[in-house]
Formats: sequence, structure tokens, C-alpha cells
Amino acid sequence: MEVDDINTIAVLGAGNMGHGIAEVAALAGFDVNLRDINEEFVQDGYDQIEWSLGKLAENDQIGDDEADAALDRVTPLVDFEAAVEDADFVVEAVPEKMEIKKDVYGELEEYAPDEAVFATNTSSLSITELSEVTERPERFCGMHFFNPPVRMQLVEVISGAHTDDEVLDLTEDLAEAMDKTPVRVRKDSPGFVVNRILVPLMNEAAWLVESGEYTVEQVDSSTKFELGLPMGSFELADQVGIDVGYHVLDYMHDVLGDAYEPCPLLAEKVEAETLGKKTGEGFYDYDDGGAEVPTDAGDEAIVRRLQAVMANEVAKLVGGDVADPDAIDEAVMLGAGFPDGPAKMADDAGLDSLVDELDDRHEDTGAARYEAADYLREAAEDGGFYGGDGDRGGSDRYDYDTVRVEKPGEMVGKVVLDRPHRMNTVSEDLLDELADAVETLADDEAVRALLVVGEGDDAFSAGADVQSMAAGGGDPLKAVELSKKGQETFGKLESSPMPVVAAVDGYCLGGGMELATCADLRVASDRSEFGQPEHDLGLLPGWGGTQRLKHVVGEGRAKEIIFTADRFDAETMADYGFVNEVVSVDEFEDRAFELAADLAAGPPVAQQYTKRAMLAGRDDTDAGLEVESQAFGHLMNTDDLMEGVTAFMGDGEPEFEGK
Ligand code: NAD
Repeated sequence: MEVDDINTIAVLGAGNMGHGIAEVAALAGFDVNLRDINEEFVQDGYDQIEWSLGKLAENDQIGDDEADAALDRVTPLVDFEAAVEDADFVVEAVPEKMEIKKDVYGELEEYAPDEAVFATNTSSLSITELSEVTERPERFCGMHFFNPPVRMQLVEVISGAHTDDEVLDLTEDLAEAMDKTPVRVRKDSPGFVVNRILVPLMNEAAWLVESGEYTVEQVDSSTKFELGLPMGSFELADQVGIDVGYHVLDYMHDVLGDAYEPCPLLAEKVEAETLGKKTGEGFYDYDDGGAEVPTDAGDEAIVRRLQAVMANEVAKLVGGDVADPDAIDEAVMLGAGFPDGPAKMADDAGLDSLVDELDDRHEDTGAARYEAADYLREAAEDGGFYGGDGDRGGSDRYDYDTVRVEKPGEMVGKVVLDRPHRMNTVSEDLLDELADAVETLADDEAVRALLVVGEGDDAFSAGADVQSMAAGGGDPLKAVELSKKGQETFGKLESSPMPVVAAVDGYCLGGGMELATCADLRVASDRSEFGQPEHDLGLLPGWGGTQRLKHVVGEGRAKEIIFTADRFDAETMADYGFVNEVVSVDEFEDRAFELAADLAAGPPVAQQYTKRAMLAGRDDTDAGLEVESQAFGHLMNTDDLMEGVTAFMGDGEPEFEGK
């Protein structure tokens, strides 16, 4: 079965997750049968979908028509047979109880078509065990969405012991059709990937406090402000529900052994039913201000301990052939909002020292959770999970975290803004790495044109990363430096000797638009949105926007864009002369590459001097004309001119050498 053969998806359970999954499926154009055990529950789920679609439309994320059409595709049902008899794919999201799920699969097997695929959204139960209740364990897998499905990008696609590879491929294709990013989990192992990292981290945080050495505030301050994770460990536990984390941990303890023994501190909270935000109290008191994590109570020893435990979990996943380091990193960044993946963080911290940390703790306490995994020792000897050079499959020359350099052929160098979990927003690191990538590519003889794109389907770049900006603490001098850095980095695209194409799909806002402004040509998908929203924030476009935009669209339009701070669609931006070509989403990638490849086949020296002359002449026409005339003279002497003239006379395609 191919994803195009899927027309009807049945979603079993219309609760928190079920209604969200149904909404995402309906938005992707599938007919959805949403089933729950009684009218009231299924209607509740349906009403929540209606509400959520309304919100998306209200925020202009989808059109009103799209919202209506998606809702029309959802059929709320209580009758089991009617819900599944014509389903091509079934996603089960009923309560996390083995007996309930097994009953559901028994009934499902009775009514569903033989070829339908069954996918469970379970967070922790054994997929293999569930699959064995059915007569199609090979057409059964995990499809683990994150909460709320409509906003969370990640879907873990998990193999049971019997799952066919084609079923996993199909499920990944389906996740992609739903606009999600699937990550393959090769084994049905407790917690899969994201929870396998997060839950032991929560447990270790609790052990740190249990030992009496540290306070909740110190641990959370270390997690949030030293490790840089989005929340403190206890803050996160409170947010998710301490009982939820505890049950996953308990299950890991049962299946994986003593290394996952739950800390008594967690058990006490569950016992006392102080479960976090939902009960008003957990590690923090939500009737009294909630989680206020101090910014300056971090401790290096806490950071090392948490890093060591995380690295050990990564090693167990990789060594156990559950997932590769890059899949783990992608999953945790998308599913838990980590700024960097745990494997990369461990490499940066130095695996040797993390192994030492575990060995020391193990010697002191004898606790199983500090036993370093064999694979961790091996990886430490090899210099890291990524082989010591942070290499994620590319060459060392282009070894970056926030951008990715690819060479798709035809002399095109592709620079991908690679922070999809943050809408490819521009951080200081991204500025540094982008500058380096553009300079390094300029020296790369195999590259004659640059194509700049954003990772994922949401954004080219949604602007500056406000979190990283806030790290400057509002210091005006730092802000001036940051503005200069952005101006210079984006300026490298203007001054790059080769033509640069920005390919925009999705949001292109603020700093993202200033980046695109520095490309030579811009191609955009028809769903893209542009804007300089800085005035809405009381700021001004500080990465070149006040100067460079007017050279592309004229001062009148530049002022309109900046002063209104409005969003502009791709067609309008094409009318304004900012976008050179608008293409449908389906054709977008191919067309962007084709355009870059066309430019890469052009005459390098002439292109370089054209760019230089146009840049020099912007504010000083005489200077520009001077550069132009000098360049004209220089070009007379090149082999490329001969090649061009010869090809022109012979009506053939020139092959320029850049000489
Ligand atoms: P929920 O309690 O909100 O919803 C479960 C729904 O299933 C309820 O409406 C219930 O009436 C219904 N139900 C019970 N028996 C049924 C049956 N026989 N047929 C159809 N519906 C039935 O739970 P949830 O949070 O949506 O979780 C559902 C599943 O998703 C669980 O396996 C859970 O582990 C998993 N999950 C939850 C989250 C989360 O953050 N809540 C995240 C990822 C995965």
C-alpha cells in the first residue's frame, strides 16, 4: 500500500490525543472516522476539533474554507463497525491501559479490512504485545504523536518485533503527508526515544534532591540556564504530570531493570496526589506563583551528572540498535524542544569525562543507574557519538549545528537553515555558522551558485531567535554588536562572488526576510508569507532591513512593509518586485534547484563583477560605474568571454570555466 492509497483513517479514542490526531489527518485531506465509546465523548472530541480549526483560521494559519473542509471530513461515530469497516489506516488513541487496548484490538480485528494498517499511539506499552492480539502483527506499528498533535512536529514511528519495513515506510509517508517529521525507532523499547531521554533525566534530577545535596531550585536552574533546556526538570515533571513520568519510569524499571528504579521523591508525590500543575501542586505550588526557576542557582556538578546520565541513555539506545545518534538528536529537539540533541551535547561535553563521572558515581554509590553502557565506553574511545568530529554525515569542512550544507549537484551549494524546531529562527550561532558556510562555499571549486532554504515545511526563517537575543539581557552595546554581526553575515551573501537564490517556503519574517533580501534572486512557494514585524515590537529591522530592502522594492514599498509591519503574501511580494517567481508548493523544490542550477551554469567571472559593480553603485553611482568599467575591461581578457561568444555564434550552450 502507498500513502496515496490511504483515503480513510479511523481514529479510535476522541480524547486529548485522538481528537488532535483526527484534526491533523483531516487537515491533510484524509476522511476521518473518529470513534469513542459514547455520544458525549465523541462529540466532545469533535467540538474540540472545531474549536482548534477555528483558532487556526483566526490566526490566519489556514483559511476559513480550509477549516470548514477539514471539519467536514471528520465523522464522529460510536458504532465500532461503522468506524473501521472502510478504514485504510487505523490510529488507536484509547487510554494507556493494556487490557483496554487489547480489547479494542480484538474488536478491531473483527471489523477492519484485512489490508488496513493498525498504529498505536501508546506512549509506553509494548507494541509487540499489542500487535500479537491481532492477526496482522506485521501490519502493526507505533505512531507516537506528541501533545498537542496540531502543534508538535515530531512523530516517532516505532517498529514492533513483527512489523514489516513497508509498513514503517508507509507510516512515515503518512506522517509526512500530515506535515509532520517522522523519526524511525527501530525497536519497541520502553519510552521509545524522547521519553527514554526525558524520563531518566527527571529521575536523576529527583535523586539529586533526594540525596540532600541539592535543592529543586538548584537542579532546575542548572537544567534550564546552564544546560539550556527549555524547562527545569521539575518544572517539566509538573507540567506533564508527575504520575505520567512516574508510570513510564516504573515500566522501564520492570522491563529494563534496576537502572530505572524510581526515586522515592517521585513515588511520594504520586502517593500524595500532588501531581504538578493539574492538581495545583507538585514540586512547585501553582496557587502561589508556580515554577519560578532562579537564573543563578546553577551548579556545574549538577550539570555534569545530568549530562552523564543522558549520554548513558543515548549510548544504550544506539548500542541497543534502537536509533542512531542523529535520529535521537532530531527526535529530542523536535519532541522536547532541546536547543541541541543529547548526543551532540554529550560529544561537546566530552564523552571521556562523562564516563569518568559515571564511574565515580558508581564507585561511590553502587547504584545501577551509574553503570556506564559498553557502547558509551566505545563511543568515548572513538572520540564521540559522531566519531569525534561532530560529523553527521557531511564532510568536516561543513560541520555546523544550525545550518547544513549540501551539494545536490549541478554545481549548486545548498545552505539549509536547520533549526526547524524553532522555525529556523536566526540565533547568534546561526549567524556565525552561516557566515562561515558562505565563505567556505565561495572557496569551493565545485560550487558556482548558492541556494538558501529553510528546513521543514513551516518557515524559511521566522526571524530572530528571541531567546538567544534575550541572552544579551537588553544590553544596548551587545545589541549594537549583534546588529552589526547580522548585517555583516547577511552582507556576505551580497558580496559572495556567486549568484545566490533564496528559496522561501512558509514564513519569511523579520531577520529571515533581511536574510532573503541579501540573495540575488528569490523564489517563493505560493503559501509563503513575508513581513518585517519589528515595528510591532517597537524595534526596527536591525540586520540591514532599513538599508537593503529599498534597493529591491524601492523606498516607498520598503517603508510600507516596515511601517505597517503587516504580513504580505507571495503574490503581493512578487508584484512589489521582491519575489522573482512564485510557484506552487508541489513544484517549489524542483524549481528553486533548477533556477540555482541555471545560474551555476552562467559565467562566473562576469557574474562576480556584475554583483560587485551593482553593490558598489548602490549609494554611489559614480563608484559603481567605475567598478563596472574596470570590470568590463577585465572581462575582455577572459577565456569565458571567448567561450560565450563562440557558443553564441554556434548556437550552442557555453561551458564556462571561471577563467
Ligand atoms: P484520553 O483519556 O484523553 O483519551 C482516551 C479516549 O479514549 C477517551 O475519550 C476514552 O473515552 C476513549 N476510549 C476508551 N475506550 C475506548 C474504546 N474502546 N474505543 C474508543 N475510544 C475509547 O487519553 P489521551 O491522553 O488522549 O491518550 C491516549 C493515548 O495516547 C494513550 O495511549 C496515551 O499514552 C497516548 N499519548 C498521550 C499523550 C498525552 O500527552 N496525553 C502523548 C502521546 C501519546
